[in-house]
Amino acid sequence: MTMHTIRDKKTSVVAGGAGFVGSHLCDALLAKGHRVICVDSYLTGRAENIIALENHPHFRMIEADICNIQMIDEPVDQVFNLACAASPPHYQADPIHTMMTCVQGTANLLSIAAQHHASFVQASTSEIYGDPEEHPQREDYRGNVNCTGPRACYDEGKRAAEALCFDMFRSGKVDTRVARIFNTYGPRMRPDDGRIISNLLVQALKGEPLTIYGSGNQTRSFCYVKDLVTGLISLMEVQPNPGLPVNLGNPSEFTINELADLVLELTRSRSELVYKPLPMDDPQRRRPDIVRAQTLLEWEPTIPLEDGLRMAADWFALALRNDLPTRSRNGSSQVGSTVLQF
Ligand code: NAD
Ligand code: UDP
Repeated sequence: MTMHTIRDKKTSVVAGGAGFVGSHLCDALLAKGHRVICVDSYLTGRAENIIALENHPHFRMIEADICNIQMIDEPVDQVFNLACAASPPHYQADPIHTMMTCVQGTANLLSIAAQHHASFVQASTSEIYGDPEEHPQREDYRGNVNCTGPRACYDEGKRAAEALCFDMFRSGKVDTRVARIFNTYGPRMRPDDGRIISNLLVQALKGEPLTIYGSGNQTRSFCYVKDLVTGLISLMEVQPNPGLPVNLGNPSEFTINELADLVLELTRSRSELVYKPLPMDDPQRRRPDIVRAQTLLEWEPTIPLEDGLRMAADWFALALRNDLPTRSRNGSSQVGSTVLQF
């Protein structure tokens, strides 16, 4: 019997495990009894997100950039690749690194998965549909991405990563699975993350004007992080491998103006709305068709926006009261360690 088969725990690598989604995934996998190896460069993640796990006997942190990582020195059963800045201002801050993270970083992790005969889940994105001409977006829609615009480093990087994953799958080298994640929110988003829900909640809680880009009539469909994590784990575990990308998101669609109204209502804030220019290539409508996830994974989101927003607002209120550090890896705040019950 090999070392691989006699181990009593599954070992999951979570690349990007110190980030918003990744840290909740680490919690959920540990709660399932897995050993978890978090690989993160702390580019946009925070040590606070995983501080509660530091002394967990089955948790290991490897500080590394996935663009450089070549091996993991212990057996591995699963690799989740969530490592990539996800907020437009963050992924556009160093677009070449974002592209290399998606392509070289994913290739490195696929190679590690191949070495260990590990299954692989790639965190892809609804951004691969670009500014969609079909609505809602089904997985067989091929998208409308501007390959030379400011979002291309992320959109095209993630598209290339999907291509790598499916080539590795077709050639029999790695059991890859691809999740196309739609806008997800919840506790542990950075207050300075720059995405809509963190921006609006932080602004409302501070009594500052809520920034709306463009008319505010553009739409998004928001998934609470706990629902997403359940979907990612189901995708990793489902047999047989779907061999197709799977949308993971909440199909309830809201305009940005509707979201702003809800934020003001829930936080009882009197902040005003200020309208700013719409960023280039900003998608106008976005809503996942989740029939594939419902059918293959028996998964669908359970947490309505109003409930999720309330939980996120409570967390941001606590984070702001504790003056949650935004960049520091050594801050003393414990707020980031809030653990959702899986
Ligand atoms: P996040 O920025 O909070 O987390 C990303 C993590 O990856 C951070 O901890 C960061 O430090 C790390 N990272 C980035 N580049 C790295 C590199 N080269 N090497 C090692 N670590 C690196 O973002 P998130 O919202 O938690 O997103 C997680 C994943 O899910 C990303 O791949 C993102 O593209 C995908 N996704 C997220 C959403 C969403 O709405 N949250 C939507 C679609 C896709
Ligand atoms: N947005 C906004 N105000 C903000 C941040 C974002 O109106 O302070 C808009 C943004 O232009 C987009 C939508 O909200 O239309 C969602 O933006 P986000 O950056 O959260 O995600 P993405 O565009 O990647 O879906």
